[in-house]
Amino acid sequence: MTITKDKVVSMTYTLTDDEGKVIDQSGDSPLVYLHGHKNIVPGLEKALDGLAVGANATAKVPPSEGYGEYDPKLKFAVDRNKLGDQIPPEGSLVQLTGGSGQEFVARVIEVTDAHVGFDANHPLAGQNLNFNVTIKEVRAANAEEIAHGHVHGPGGHQH
Ligand code: ZN
Repeated sequence: MTITKDKVVSMTYTLTDDEGKVIDQSGDSPLVYLHGHKNIVPGLEKALDGLAVGANATAKVPPSEGYGEYDPKLKFAVDRNKLGDQIPPEGSLVQLTGGSGQEFVARVIEVTDAHVGFDANHPLAGQNLNFNVTIKEVRAANAEEIAHGHVHGPGGHQH
């Protein structure tokens, strides 16, 4: 069975940056996703299309097909006294509410006496993503999974 839209794919992967440093890897528990439903970055989904069980593939995904270009406008600072007593430590991820009520996640990049600096870019924005992937299993998704747009059961959503 090969990877096409509405197949559930189980794979192991290693993700490295352009210097060869490992950013993320699946280890012993394969990543399970529903193909053709934007569960994974577009560039990787495209690279996996048509592969069969057992295939080993590498894919170099540019930012435009990964986590986006780095946008300097997504860096901002908030007055420290507006944040009350709970100042998050540098490097932590916090959920914030924007001007029109939308929630988003930002990383704390600087804490000074006057302000706290945030960066709402994805941590991998602006980076090439170098994937090395091995396809472990491919199965047809059931109707409920296709309707929900994600995988149920082992490795997927439990609900
Ligand atoms: Zn579901």
